[in-house]
Order: sequence, then C-alpha cells, then structure tokens
Amino acid sequence: MALIVQKYGGTSVGSTERIKNVARRIAKWKAQGHDLVVVLSAMSGETNRLIALAKEIQETPDPRELDVIVSTGEQVTIGLLAMALKEIGLEAKSYCGWQVKLVTDSAHGKARISSIDEGVMRADLDAGRVVIVAGFQGVDENGAITTLGRGGSDTSAVALAAALKADECQIYTDVDGVYTTDPRVEPEARRLKTITFEEMIELASLGSKVLQIRSVEFAGKYKVRLRVLSSFEEEGEGTLITFEEDESMEQAVVAGIAFDRNEARINVKGVPDRPGIAYQILGPIADANIEVDMIIQNVGDHGATDFSFTVPRGEYNKALSILRDMQTHVGAARVEGDDKVAKISIVGVGMRSHCGIASTMFRTLAEEGINIQLISTSEIKVSVLIDEKYLELAVRVLHKAFGLDQKISA
Ligand code: ADP
Ligand code: ASP
Ligand code: MG
Repeated sequence: MALIVQKYGGTSVGSTERIKNVARRIAKWKAQGHDLVVVLSAMSGETNRLIALAKEIQETPDPRELDVIVSTGEQVTIGLLAMALKEIGLEAKSYCGWQVKLVTDSAHGKARISSIDEGVMRADLDAGRVVIVAGFQGVDENGAITTLGRGGSDTSAVALAAALKADECQIYTDVDGVYTTDPRVEPEARRLKTITFEEMIELASLGSKVLQIRSVEFAGKYKVRLRVLSSFEEEGEGTLITFEEDESMEQAVVAGIAFDRNEARINVKGVPDRPGIAYQILGPIADANIEVDMIIQNVGDHGATDFSFTVPRGEYNKALSILRDMQTHVGAARVEGDDKVAKISIVGVGMRSHCGIASTMFRTLAEEGINIQLISTSEIKVSVLIDEKYLELAVRVLHKAFGLDQKISA
C-alpha cells in the first residue's frame, strides 16, 4: 500500500464524462489499497476564458482580483470529481488551496509555496477518504487567494507529494509521457522511459510545457518520485524523472528538443563600446520587470558595438519603447527588433562528455538554409534563436540528425 498524489490536467477533466473516467481510474487505485490525494486543473480552456473575462473589465487586471477570478476554474472540477467518486461509492472530500493551508508569498499570478499543513489531509486519508485538492492556487499570509502561474497545478501536486512524503507523484496528462520533443510538432517523437532530473529542468525551462518548471525544481529539492502518464490509456508506465544517471545504459547524447515561441529579439546597434553599456541598456529593462533571456554583445569595432537580447513576446513593445526613449542618452545609432522569432534547444547530459554536438546542430540548420540569429549554451544544452516560420522544420531536421526518431531507434 502506498500514498500516491495524482494530478489530472485540463484536458483530462475537460468534460463531466472525462471527470467520471478519472473517478473510475481513482477507484482502481483505491481497490488496490492505495491512499490517494488528487490534484486537479480547471477544465481545458477555462483559465483562458476567465482571464479574457477579467480583461473585458480591466485591460491590465488588478493582480489580487485576477487571482480571485482565475482560481475558480479549479474549484469547479474538484467539486465535480468529489461527486463523481461518491456516485461510484467512494468517500471523498474536496479542498481549495486555502483549506489545506497551502500558503504562498503574495506574488499574485506567480506565487511561490512556503508551507502546507498536512493535518486535514492526513485525517481524511486515515478515514479512508480520497482527498481532492484544487491545483494552481494557494493563500498568502493575509488570507488573499494566490495562483502559481500557468501550468501551476503540476507544482501544487509535487508540493503536496513533498509535504505528505508520498511514495510517488503521478502527473496524468494528454500524452503518455515525456517525449523526445513535442509530439504535436514531430509525430516521430518517442516516449522516454526515464529522463534525468537535470534534463527535465532544462526542457521545462526551455519551453516544453509538459511539466511546469517549478514542479520539477520542487521534485529535485525534496526528492519526489515524479512520473508523467496518460489519463486516456489504461496501462503504461509513462516517464519517470530520475535523480541518478543510469550508468549501465548507453546515455543518448541529446535526450530531447525543446522550443519556445514566446520570444522577441531586440537589437541596439552602434552603441559606444565602453564599460557599463550593458548595464545602461539592460538596467531600465530590469527596472520595468521585463525578463531578459538570451544576450549577445559583439566585440567592438572602431569604438562602437552591437548589443542584442530577447524578451518575452508580450513585453516586446514595452521593451522597444523603453529603449527608443533612451536611445540618445545611451548614444545608440539604431534600435530595432523582431517579434517573429523562436528559440529551439537541444538538451542532454551526454553533451558533457561529447564534443561537436553544437556544430552538428549548426550544420543541420545550415543545410536547410535556416539562419541562426543568437546562440546560448550551457553544459547540457545549446539554444539558438531562429525565424519563427522555420521552427517546425528545424525541430524535425534536428530530431532526425540526433537520432531521436522512432524509426531510427526502433
Ligand atoms: P495538462 O493540461 O495536462 O497540464 P499540458 O498541455 O500543460 O497538459 O502539457 C501536455 C502537453 O505538453 C502535450 O499535449 C504536448 O503537446 C506538450 N509537450 C511539449 N513538449 C513535450 C514533450 N517533450 N513531451 C511530451 N509532451 C510535450
Ligand atoms: N488551470 C491553470 C492553467 O491553465 C493551471 C494548470 O492547468 O496547471 O494554467
Ligand atoms: Mg500543464
């Protein structure tokens, strides 16, 4: 008998029929004698609908009130699942974030979890009930409802698993595991039986939305056994996130490919090549709370240099206007940009011990005539910025070049 935390995503609870399916799946686990804590997302599309409603009233919604609104999606699904379980004869109780005292800081829309009181949940588990908790939401020290950022139910689930010292945290979604890349873009993508925690952190942070990055960080910090599975298939072991590399296995050099369309590039051209220039350009961007991702500064030529960086696409216009306002002050010749760019990254712990991986990536893209605009690397990843219109093509050719296709590995 084990204590298992299961999380079902938006598509998996997208209709009452699907919620009944989730109830049947839970009943099977219960019948095997396991204790279950179940975390739910809102029905798919619901969080977007609620955000759009808020924007009909306020173009930039008040962060506290927006959390009051968007957290309601999860309140509906947990109640429905509790009813569905009762209908098939199981004892169940649903809880909002504040009711299990999932306390967060006050950063509305991207709150961080600081503590969870497991007492209420333990009492229910001891009484044989299935505990159902609303994902994505918490409460701050002042009693205000907070949310954890898009995709945040993953993080709720892992945090609950850590607090309860659960044997496993299972993330049920609309694919049957973590793939070598998004199977919606590359049908030849292959499910990975395991992936290392380090690789999963990189893939999540570089755009693979199958797990919210904070959930992976949490799993790493508290050593939560984390598995991604399909809510639509009866059988299957999904993908296990492992904390140790399997020495007995020949490690693939590249484990997966991630991509991110939420990028825009800004170029500041002909700036004086002197100490402090990066700070002068990026300081005001940071002050405006705009997150900068890739950065490149060229070697100066005749006292002038070019500076480029990327920002989230939604912040592009704001970043551009900040820079245009200070163009004269910085002494820049031109400020330009492009918001139709995308970042594509190859990730793998095997890169540590293999050289030439980046050059294979660059050659593969060159052979397709795809121009690389910016590059950034770390020990286990290489990212490039390209024109968005070549993104799908780039994913497919790189997937093949690194031998990740089903056909090649089968
Ligand atoms: P949920 O609503 O269950 O949280 P998400 O839409 O957040 O589901 O995440 C699942 C989706 O993540 C999949 O449908 C798939 O398109 C996408 N995805 C992106 N990269 C990967 C990957 N490497 N492996 C599996 N799925 C991926
Ligand atoms: N419902 C929230 C969202 O759509 C949280 C989640 O699904 O994980 O982002
Ligand atoms: Mg998700």
